[in-house]
Amino acid sequence: MYALVTGGSRGIGRAVAVKLAKMGYKVLINYMSNDVEAEKTLAMIREAGSDGELLKFDVSQADVAQKALEDWMAAHPSEYIEVLVNNAGIRKDNLLVFMAPDEFQRVLTTNLFSFYNVTHPLIEQMIRHKYGRIINMASLSGLKGLPGQCNYSAAKGGLIAATKALAQEVARKNITVNAVAPGFVRTDMVEGLDEDELKGQIPMKRFGEAEEVANLVGFLASKEASYITGEVININGGLYS
Ligand code: NAP
Repeated sequence: MYALVTGGSRGIGRAVAVKLAKMGYKVLINYMSNDVEAEKTLAMIREAGSDGELLKFDVSQADVAQKALEDWMAAHPSEYIEVLVNNAGIRKDNLLVFMAPDEFQRVLTTNLFSFYNVTHPLIEQMIRHKYGRIINMASLSGLKGLPGQCNYSAAKGGLIAATKALAQEVARKNITVNAVAPGFVRTDMVEGLDEDELKGQIPMKRFGEAEEVANLVGFLASKEASYITGEVININGGLYS
C-alpha cells in the first residue's frame, strides 16, 4: 500500500507522512530541494515501522511531475498509489497593489496547478483499482480570503473548488476527494508571524500543531472515511467556520 505526500520534507507534510506510515502505508516523500529534512522524514517513517522513498521534483512543473510519477509507476508495475496528499505549498504575501506578476504566478502554480500536475498522472490507476483517497491541503485563506494574500487565497479557493468537482467525477469509483483547511499551524511557513498577537484572535488561544492536522488527514485517508467526499474540513482552533 503506497501513499504520496507532496511537500513531505517538513511541517504538515512530514507529520502526515509519519501518520500514514503508522497506518501501514509505504510513503513516497515528495519535496523541492531540502534533502536533509526529507531524509529526516524518511528516517521517522522507518522509526514508525514502515518504509518509504524520496521523490524529489517540483510540483509546479507539469512535465517534471508527470515524468517523475510515470518513472515510479514503471518501476513498480504491480503497485499503485492509493492515497495522495496534495500538500506542497508556498506563500508570498503582499498587498495586491505591490504584488509582482511573479509573486502571483508562482503561488498559483505551486499551490493550485500542482493539483493537476500530480493528480492527473495518478487518477487513472485509482479509477482502474476502484479505490483511492485524495486529500488537498487548502487553507482558511481560501475560504475567508485574507488581506495580503490575493495570490494564496485565489490558489486555495481554486483548490477547494477543484476538490468538489473531482469528488463528483470519481465518487462511483470509490475514490474520495476532500480538502483540509488549517488556520495557523506552527511550521516554517508561519515563521515571522507574530504568534503572541495572532493567538489572541483564536478561541483556543494557540496555534495548531502539524500532528493535529495529520490526524485529520489520516482519518480522511482511512477506509473508515468511506462516505465523506467533496468536503472541506476546517481545523483552526475555532478561528473561522
Ligand atoms: P512548510 O513547512 O513551509 O513546508 C512546505 C513543504 O512544501 C516543504 O516540504 C517544501 O519542500 C515543499 N514544497 C514547496 N514548494 C514545492 C514545490 N514546488 N515542489 C515540491 N515541494 C515543494 O509548509 P507547511 O506549513 O507545512 O504547509 C503545508 C501545506 O499546508 C501548504 O500547502 C500550506 O499552504 C498549507 N497550510 C499551512 C498553514 C500553516 O499555518 N502552516 C495553514 C494553512 C494551510 P522543501 O523542504 O524541499 O522546500
